[in-house]
Amino acid sequence: VSEPDIGTIGGAGITLADVGGLTEVKKRLNLSFLSPLRNPELRLRFGKSLRGGLLLWGPPGCGKTLIARALAGELGASFYEIGLSDVLDMWIGSSERNLRAIFDTARRNRPCLLFFDEMDALGQKRSHLRGGGSSMRGVVNQMLAELDGASTDNEGVFVLAASNHPWDIDSALLRPGRFDRTVLVPPPDQAAREAILGFHLRGKPAERLNLGKIAKVTEGRSGADLALICEQSVESAMDRSMTAGTVVPITQRDLEDAARSVRPSIGDWLET
Ligand code: ATP
Repeated sequence: VSEPDIGTIGGAGITLADVGGLTEVKKRLNLSFLSPLRNPELRLRFGKSLRGGLLLWGPPGCGKTLIARALAGELGASFYEIGLSDVLDMWIGSSERNLRAIFDTARRNRPCLLFFDEMDALGQKRSHLRGGGSSMRGVVNQMLAELDGASTDNEGVFVLAASNHPWDIDSALLRPGRFDRTVLVPPPDQAAREAILGFHLRGKPAERLNLGKIAKVTEGRSGADLALICEQSVESAMDRSMTAGTVVPITQRDLEDAARSVRPSIGDWLET
């Protein structure tokens, strides 16, 4: 079987320190994922199992993928991201084989973190789209077999999944030993928004900025929305710089204008 092209991004470089805010989420991930891995003796003493995967869920653009990459970075593991919805459509008729090939690739490249985005593609809602429930059942069963790793050795292969609609995921995947630990990645609060803005403006030519003020007026914006606000401010400053023929820094006004023009994307999610 030829290996499916799933791409890989080195986890190296990004750590949890690069994820703005989300203090509670980081604490939870440390407790349930990083600490047990880093303290094998203590883990054995308490009989804590490493089986199963972690499911990150919440509104789009709030850092689920970023966190998964950061965890790979923390572990010095390579990072494979699989957008399940896209690949399942691409793999019609050969999903099970391709899924097995992905896990085989992961096992050959350990330590490695497999990140399945759009996990809800493995669920009831989608089954009618792709030739009925039976083909979906096959992929779900294959996923269960790979996760259970009964006949395989998953040491050094970390599995994470993410979903905006976890309630659509096939329930067999959420039972103990599978994706049984769920972590809500919420929209950023004010402190997180300030940290995210700071992260995306780091090292850029800027006036003295009051990011706290921008964080205050951007309630309901996701991390991705905030990244876009920074991007638009950069574009404004670059535009002025090109006209002036010299570097003109980003101003508070640039950020305020951008904050007004970027509409919050989380509202749509809350209505789904
Ligand atoms: P989706 O559900 O749409 O896949 P997601 O929750 O996986 O979204 P990410 O892809 O992690 O969201 O975030 C999108 C972008 O938003 C990131 O690349 C980053 O630029 C920015 N971002 C989101 N959250 C944060 C954060 N906490 N700190 C810094 N940047 C963030």
